[in-house]
Amino acid sequence: MVKAVVGANWGDEGKGKITDMMAEKADIIVRFQGGANAGHTIVNCYGKFALHTLPSGVFYGHTTSVIGNGVALNIPVLFKEIQSIVERNVPMPKILVSDRCQIVMPYHILFDQYEEERLGGRSFGSTKSGIAPFYSDKYAKIGFQVNELFDEEGLEEKVKNVCALKNVTLKYLYNKPEIDPKELLETLHEYRQMIEPYVCDVSSFLNQALKDGKTILLEGQLGTLKDPDHGIYPMVTSSSTLAAYGAIGAGIPPYEIKQVVTVCKAYSSAVGAGAFVSEIFGEEADELRRRGGDGGEYGATTGRPRRMGWFDCVASKYGCRLQGTTDVAFTVLDVLGYLDEIPVCVGYDIDGQVTTEFPVTHLLEKAKPVLKTLPGWKCDIRGITKYEELPENCRNYIEFIEKQIGYPITMISNGPRRQDIIYRESPLKK
Ligand code: GDP
Repeated sequence: MVKAVVGANWGDEGKGKITDMMAEKADIIVRFQGGANAGHTIVNCYGKFALHTLPSGVFYGHTTSVIGNGVALNIPVLFKEIQSIVERNVPMPKILVSDRCQIVMPYHILFDQYEEERLGGRSFGSTKSGIAPFYSDKYAKIGFQVNELFDEEGLEEKVKNVCALKNVTLKYLYNKPEIDPKELLETLHEYRQMIEPYVCDVSSFLNQALKDGKTILLEGQLGTLKDPDHGIYPMVTSSSTLAAYGAIGAGIPPYEIKQVVTVCKAYSSAVGAGAFVSEIFGEEADELRRRGGDGGEYGATTGRPRRMGWFDCVASKYGCRLQGTTDVAFTVLDVLGYLDEIPVCVGYDIDGQVTTEFPVTHLLEKAKPVLKTLPGWKCDIRGITKYEELPENCRNYIEFIEKQIGYPITMISNGPRRQDIIYRESPLKK
């Protein structure tokens, strides 16, 4: 059976920890979209790791880690990531990379930088990992699939053609140095060597695994609000962040996805530009940022300070709906223990009308948060393992949010470690 772990919001909800935890009972963990532009932070017995490309299951001996065809694969980044974990005494993980996965080329990264430079103040706040140029090329049908590295004749020809195309833009739009096709071909030969041991027909492998009764975990990156169709377009990422896309990005039948665990953080954070209705500023935001996550809310890839806000029921209800949520994992709740009172965004005021339906972007930009303040619990809840043992105000906070979003909160994460998890029976799950 297939389970998915995905985000309800802007990303950084703590998916890495939930995936790492659920990986204990899984056989195969699959990344199905995105690239090395975001990361997961994982704390386990080997130490603290920021993963950008490898699935969060790499720390277990019993799992196979799969990079699906939907991923934007940066081969040197993957190679370095494997080295860096093995250097820190993690046993060499079993890794498979789809032969249909497309490759992030060195020029994608350059184009990302050049475009941000060109846009200046109007930029999207890209992490400059080449993801947007990569997916543009994929759908313009000038991308390179991993299997093409092994067709020397075709590769040489394609490199020539693509360079001719790219060099026009480099010269006339960006006024930057052109790409030398020979040099690019050499780089691709190096990529071929790096990736060769891992290449596999992933879709076929996964379909056989399903026949054998294995458990497959799909690991999402970012969250619903960064989805190119359903998110805050154009301040979105370039591949779908929805569980449904897991079927495509891994090459499995959609009806095999039986459980969708949507991760919601107990407060909000976002990176990059775009509307963020429940955002807070100043000392209030600084304090939450300092105390947030595990050692502060700073980007796992870029180290950028994250934008902070209160929990947003409107965005999260929408985020859960689009994911097809069967279970909500409510994370980082322990961090809120310092607050006397906790504001929660329960509606959006748009031109004097209050709504709980998440609007399209131009209306979202006008939305003002309608806040309701709940009493805090003023204590440290780390170490608690039973739902009934949580302070009453803490349970009230969870139950209030569950009612607002309308999806069952069945897991509560009260610390960064695997074992910091409280399972709960939800009245919404019969
Ligand atoms: P992801 O991309 O969704 O995996 O999110 P991040 O990598 O940004 O993870 C959020 C951060 O919160 C990481 O530093 C985790 O170690 C940490 N974390 C996850 N769950 C919890 C939790 O329940 N409590 C605390 N305090 N930290 C958590």
